[in-house]
Amino acid sequence: MVHIASGDLFRQAAESGTELGKLAKSYMEKGLLVPDEVTIKLILEQLSHLDDRGFILDGFPRTRAQAEALEKSVGIDRAIYLEVPKEELIQRLSSRWICQNCQTPYNLLSHPPKVAGRCDLCGGKLYQREDDKEETVRKRIEVYLEETAPLLDFYARRGKLIEVDGRKQVEEVAADLLQTLEKL
Ligand code: AMP
Repeated sequence: MVHIASGDLFRQAAESGTELGKLAKSYMEKGLLVPDEVTIKLILEQLSHLDDRGFILDGFPRTRAQAEALEKSVGIDRAIYLEVPKEELIQRLSSRWICQNCQTPYNLLSHPPKVAGRCDLCGGKLYQREDDKEETVRKRIEVYLEETAPLLDFYARRGKLIEVDGRKQVEEVAADLLQTLEKL
């Protein structure tokens, strides 16, 4: 399946210094959502290029307007909710470092790289996202609870919601998720 991550697209645009990137950056660095109009256009554009392999949206939709726009276009089969308590999220995000080259995520507490500051897979340099600093993480969670959490009900009502306990280790969460999907 094709993996489409809205945050990655915004970070790439910010890195390239495009108008979209500059706009996105001004919201991202404050832990706020990029306006719906821009975000919906970006994702629908991506979806219009896809073949029939199927796709996984990561980080989209995050508001009711986005979810409605998605339903009106291609629609989705399932929405996956990985449930993790707030304090655990803050700890995970503020100790997350990512490979600059291949985007593999590490966690300095639970999954550190073998060589400090370097990716185990490709040797790339690790960096911390600006918005993974604790204060911004708290803001992002606040925005999530306000804008995005209501989508759980939106998808549950349509019989599309899958809930997975995200507190376990990465491998266990992945196995639980696959098992749930296989049962469907
Ligand atoms: P992520 O990598 O998914 O955590 O996204 C990083 C940042 O990009 C978010 O904190 C938002 O500022 C922006 N962003 C990503 N996806 C969306 C979206 N669906 N709607 C609005 N803003 C988004």
